[in-house]
Amino acid sequence: MVNIQELMAGATGADARLMRGFADRAAGFRPSPVRDVFEVSMRPGIISLAGGNPDLELLPLEKIGEMASSIIAREGLEVLQYGSGAGLEELAELVCSFMESEGSRPTLDEVQMTAGSQMGLDLVTKLFTDPGDVVLAEGPTYTGALGVFEGYQAEVQQVEMDEHGLVPAQVEERIKALKAEGKKVKFLYTIPNFQNPTGVTLADDRRAELVRVCRENDVLVVEDNPYGQLGFDGTRHRSLHSYDPEAVIYLGSFSKVFSPGVRVGWMVAPPRVRKFLQIAGEAVTICPSVLSQRLVLGFMSEGMWESHTRKTSKLYAQRCRAVLEACEQHMPAGTEWTEPEGGFFTWLTLPEGAKVSNAELALPEAIDAGVVFVPGTAFYDDSAAGVDVTEPAGARNLRLAFSSVAPERLSEGVSRLAGVL
Ligand code: PMP
Repeated sequence: MVNIQELMAGATGADARLMRGFADRAAGFRPSPVRDVFEVSMRPGIISLAGGNPDLELLPLEKIGEMASSIIAREGLEVLQYGSGAGLEELAELVCSFMESEGSRPTLDEVQMTAGSQMGLDLVTKLFTDPGDVVLAEGPTYTGALGVFEGYQAEVQQVEMDEHGLVPAQVEERIKALKAEGKKVKFLYTIPNFQNPTGVTLADDRRAELVRVCRENDVLVVEDNPYGQLGFDGTRHRSLHSYDPEAVIYLGSFSKVFSPGVRVGWMVAPPRVRKFLQIAGEAVTICPSVLSQRLVLGFMSEGMWESHTRKTSKLYAQRCRAVLEACEQHMPAGTEWTEPEGGFFTWLTLPEGAKVSNAELALPEAIDAGVVFVPGTAFYDDSAAGVDVTEPAGARNLRLAFSSVAPERLSEGVSRLAGVL
């Protein structure tokens, strides 16, 4: 795995000379462990349970191709040009009606288009955190979010979940304790639906309470919802945003329901805050890609989205079942796993006293056996004071992604992995 400290320490010549000029924040950069194992995943014969990629096989490629061609032929002068910093208005309108299915009613001036949820995370963190400010997150959480928070030198504090997600009283307790220490707690980052990496969904009856405790303690909620439309039975949970649009910034994405390659997502925030997000975004990309947004608009408005989402949700449900059945069949006694109701991931916990006490150390052996996964430690911030180096958080956990592997291969992958564990 790429290690930033080693990258810096091992530099010579021009690299070393330039690196001496790096800003302090470079030391906080966090390479994605998923992208780290990307090359390994591509090796022939390897079964990858690592990458949370959507399966694109069911996309109506010919239809999308015709649409793309007609868009360029008819609207080329607009879609190949710079566009609005806020994004394509027609797509923002569609986002507004789309969010009604989760109980939110944003207005057009509250919607900011982005190059994906990842960009939204970056903009929110850039706008709200100074070095040393606290960001609260679930324990464990999306590793790409940790990379953003650490890159902006925020202090990440993770609050453990139970099988129904965050416990609002525990979040409040942590906020109060941190404030008592004189810390500034800027926001709570949460993935309420089919969470990455655990697959856990925040119970509906905790949602209003979670938003309330954050608002009362003056802590913004950043709700990241890239998987929300991928409930196995089609259930759409009410968004946290819908409970209090003044207390929540919402991040949405078309990556999992259409294509991560087009790089299109959105954010919803009160109008003036939204304007600041736009200005921060313009400093990075000038405007969201007009062509990509137009493709998404076509995909959504020509009715391809509904049928594609229905089909892929079924496919992911099947794959989830296959992975859980294989775990049941092959995993060592005492191993536990989550039972997701949607999304791409399940989260394994090895029993205490298992042969493998840190899954990260089992990765090379797993690769030799022909399977890759992401070790649980990747989903925790390890820079916080008081981290137990003998058993770091997440050491007995593994994230298994089932979204882009056929059921037979999933069973084989789990069986290979169990052999190592
Ligand atoms: N948030 C979460 C929880 C994710 O899992 C991902 C993608 N793995 C992202 C954000 C980034 O998504 P996007 O492609 O929309 O930038």
